[in-house]
Amino acid sequence: MSVDRSTTWPYREGEPGDFYYQRYGHPTGAEAERRLGELDGGHALVFSSGAGATTALVLALLSPGDTIALAEGAYFGTAATFAELERWGLRTVEFDQTGAPPQGADLIWLEAPSNPFLTMPDLEAAASHEARVVVDATAATPVFLRPLERGADFVLHSATKYLAGHDDALLGVVVSKREQDAARLHELRTRLGIVAAPDPCFLLLRGLKTLELRVHRQTETATELARRLDGHAAVANVRYPGFGGLLSFDVAGPEEARRVETSLRLITNATSLGGVDSVLEARARWEGDRVPAGLLRLSVGLEPLEELWTDLERALDFPGFPGARE
Ligand SMILES: *Cc1c(COP(=O)(O)O)cnc(C)c1O
Repeated sequence: MSVDRSTTWPYREGEPGDFYYQRYGHPTGAEAERRLGELDGGHALVFSSGAGATTALVLALLSPGDTIALAEGAYFGTAATFAELERWGLRTVEFDQTGAPPQGADLIWLEAPSNPFLTMPDLEAAASHEARVVVDATAATPVFLRPLERGADFVLHSATKYLAGHDDALLGVVVSKREQDAARLHELRTRLGIVAAPDPCFLLLRGLKTLELRVHRQTETATELARRLDGHAAVANVRYPGFGGLLSFDVAGPEEARRVETSLRLITNATSLGGVDSVLEARARWEGDRVPAGLLRLSVGLEPLEELWTDLERALDFPGFPGARE
């Protein structure tokens, strides 16, 4: 499919056709939504970013005075978005998503697995709560988890990560279980203008063609790296849910973390995740004391396992580090 960048399309016989003005919808976005809807088993809508998708969902579902129960240790940007909306009457309470959500919440917001703690939510406990359930499945992808089949009402993805997969398209997705919810979100998206442009949607469509291959290969490599890191004397608390390309582990403290960040040669010291190139960073620079000072998050790409391990082993092996070959 080629990219149609039109912002306007001619009426036919004086009547608007499927597409008439880009803010309402465009062919590349519609095709991406068709594919994403199949992948998650629901009605998909693309947004200009994952954070844009989060904003749209909250504004569509909640009113001033409502409370969101947010999974503790979930993506810090989600809590930051909700904090912006406090001025508009929104309240947030954090809870341990491995157990039941608190009573009285108007919306339950889970993350599967959470970023960067890699915990998995108790989907059954959330589904039996009276409030509606959103699962941010950015790190799981629909290849490993289809939350709508497990009682969730909405799935959210930062498509910037695994779905597009090449660190060159900023996009978000909400997949609704019910068609009427998707229709409401579509209306809100059009009114607020939190829309995705055709070019990133094209890159997303291209990324989706290799999604399954990529995440299976990333899982294979990440599983083995997690195993080896777990046995390394300089490493504690390897967190890996058993699938996907995202893991985190702790070194002793901030200096050790900085040392690893600046010693890597193959793995890029950068933020984000889900791309074909491996990236690693200390999360404390963004999240402060929400995370251990020595927590390093690694997003495993498609490089050969042994090359990645050589890079990590070398970065973890210097005088002063426990277990170093001095
Ligand atoms: C990156 C990320 C987001 C935000 O998505 P953007 O595309 O950066 O706006 C939301 N949730 C999770 C789990 C993420 O990793």
